[in-house]
Amino acid sequence: MKSCWMFVIGSVLLGLSCSSPPSPQRSGIDESRIVDLTYSFDENTIYWPTAQPFRWEKESWGQSAGGYWYTAARYSASEHGGTHFDSPIHFGEGRSSVDQIAPGRLIGPAAVIDVSAACENNPDYLVAVSDLTGWERAHGRIPDGAIVLFRTGWGRYWSDRKRYLGADAPGDTQNLHFPGLSREAAEWLVKERRIDGVGIDTASIDYGQSKDFIAHQVLNGADIYALENVAALEALPPLGSTIIALPMKIRGGTGAPARILALLP
Ligand SMILES: [Zn+2]
Repeated sequence: MKSCWMFVIGSVLLGLSCSSPPSPQRSGIDESRIVDLTYSFDENTIYWPTAQPFRWEKESWGQSAGGYWYTAARYSASEHGGTHFDSPIHFGEGRSSVDQIAPGRLIGPAAVIDVSAACENNPDYLVAVSDLTGWERAHGRIPDGAIVLFRTGWGRYWSDRKRYLGADAPGDTQNLHFPGLSREAAEWLVKERRIDGVGIDTASIDYGQSKDFIAHQVLNGADIYALENVAALEALPPLGSTIIALPMKIRGGTGAPARILALLP
């Protein structure tokens, strides 16, 4: 009896009743298991050196003439900056623009491949096929429909533009240094597995010194999208999370700012 009362009191606190089993939260999602993989957009957000950065201006702010509180602002930016989505049309002629991606492809199982040790002393590191096969030996085959996320460790430099990009002069694309994917790794993912997207915690899936953006060419050419400047990858296990990557639905867009969430297992 005493334990039943304890249960009732506990259940009231939890919003349960004695007769029904614990119910999931209304969303059906355990909200304590959500990780936000998105950086905020503001005047410091890192954009490609040739791109227009994020601009945000207040249009109205405060008590209105009508006596009520009213705020509104306007923003503008290039598509490719901050935490964002590269649609296949970015480097794949005739491929999908951001509005044409089927919603189901924006949600998928994460495969998180940690290459941070190799990148530690080599800012020009290229993810190799052996990084992919090594991950599979430990965790099994990359699932169909996966979003393959590469953790280089560069996220820790996000607040330091020079360290993150390797160069911080506006327009300077010659002195960029950060890790990316090798041509071979991109081709392996296209030919050997059936993934929906890739993502990385650097400014580009191609390394900073790339001149031909071959990983973009290969992956976008195969209608695979990319997520760039992905935050907080250190919070994800190698396998078991679900990614929800939602870009702004710009008609014809080659990319867009994206809100990216992970649901931990
Ligand atoms: Zn991009």
